[in-house]
Amino acid sequence: MNAVEELKNKRIVHWFRKDQRVSDHEIFSRLVNFEHVTAFYLHEDRYKSMHSLGFPWISDKRKTFLNESILELAAKLDSLGVDFQIFKNLKDLEASKLLGADVLTYQKLDGTEERKQEKLVLELHPSNVFSFDDFTLIDKNNLPFELKHMPQTFTPFKNQIGESGRYSKTIDLPALPLSSISFELRGGENPALNRLKYYFNDSNLIATYKETRNRMIGTDYSSRLSPWLALGNVSARTVFDYIVKYESEVVSNESTYWLIFELLWRDFFQLQLHIHGDAFFQRKGIQGKEIRFSQNDKVFWKWANGETGDDLVDANIRELNATGWMSNRGRQNVASYLIHNLSIDWRWGAAYLESQLIDYDPASNYGNWMYIAGVGHDPRPSRKLNTKGQAERYDTEGTYRKLWLR
Ligand SMILES: Cc1cc2nc3c(=O)[nH]c(=O)nc-3n(C[C@H](O)[C@H](O)[C@H](O)COP(=O)(O)OP(=O)(O)OC[C@H]3O[C@@H](n4cnc5c(N)ncnc54)[C@H](O)[C@@H]3O)c2cc1C
Repeated sequence: MNAVEELKNKRIVHWFRKDQRVSDHEIFSRLVNFEHVTAFYLHEDRYKSMHSLGFPWISDKRKTFLNESILELAAKLDSLGVDFQIFKNLKDLEASKLLGADVLTYQKLDGTEERKQEKLVLELHPSNVFSFDDFTLIDKNNLPFELKHMPQTFTPFKNQIGESGRYSKTIDLPALPLSSISFELRGGENPALNRLKYYFNDSNLIATYKETRNRMIGTDYSSRLSPWLALGNVSARTVFDYIVKYESEVVSNESTYWLIFELLWRDFFQLQLHIHGDAFFQRKGIQGKEIRFSQNDKVFWKWANGETGDDLVDANIRELNATGWMSNRGRQNVASYLIHNLSIDWRWGAAYLESQLIDYDPASNYGNWMYIAGVGHDPRPSRKLNTKGQAERYDTEGTYRKLWLR
């Protein structure tokens, strides 16, 4: 019997975290009767504070995206008859007496801040908890190796997973909506599924992903699913199943494979965060390597304001500041420049992207920054990019730079 089956006649209180959807959901997809279920969302305390450099840990744009997602979730739960409450802080949660239910169910997360929050909530509900771990595509309990022996670099990890074929299947594959919206950056399960439909069924953009993924202008050069994946508005399993469906019904090519490849990068960092925990957020990274960085706030702010004088870096940071978005190509260049050209502490850059990116995710953000800084998972000692060469290669006509430096 599935563990969730055993919960069926219990009074459940479900804590929503980065699982903000009702389809392909460990609890909501498996239960048929919601009579005994209540649910809540708890805002994160640290998002009320500022970074020591004076910027908020969460920008207004990401806050808006998050609030949209929670409001859509509230409406969906209401239609299922599930009572849902949103708490600003732990005190309000405690005062609500909601945690008196038989069982508390919740998604387990590995970031330092997420684990701190879990500890505080569990202190209010110390017994009868059921936690699950569905943020990744690959089930942690079904790896072709013991987690503690997981390869520490991406290529052998990807090869072993690929050969094993142990990808998780969705619990229930959500039907894609009927509307044809190309791109609407709004938090929630509906906009996520709209994007999936557009990217796969309406436009067939998936079929050319490998050729377009390094571009920087527009909304169609890559899947743009990351903001929704970060909140769990759509699961990685669902994206994967849509790729497989597309491969069997339309075409299977290098591009369809490459999207799976990128989802594996996402899993790689998630699993590595599970193994290494707090080291992901520390200066010496998972390698414990001493690298000299300076903490010059004037130099940092020139970078963060898009005023370094390097056109590609400045254009990308200006796009980020204006929209909450930056392409993968852009992220690599701005990170490399801050670390290797300006010699600034990589954690300052990571914190700034945490604040500004709508798709912020602890494992993907800090994992990629560590990688570029040379204290993470890259076997090479340095990942310095030549930003001038990158601009010539990926922005040949200078169109992207003109767009943001005008
Ligand atoms: C310095 C730096 C910081 C980053 N911070 C974040 C972050 O906070 N949140 C985040 O989701 N991604 C982050 N990334 C990874 C990557 O840039 C984004 O996932 C990607 O640009 C999102 O666009 P997309 O959804 O169109 O991706 P696609 O190219 O369509 O890829 C599909 C999915 O694969 C995953 N993915 C792709 N590339 C990576 C990667 N390098 N690492 C991990 N997962 C990947 C994402 O979930 C993405 O949505 C960062 C990369 C760098 C270099």
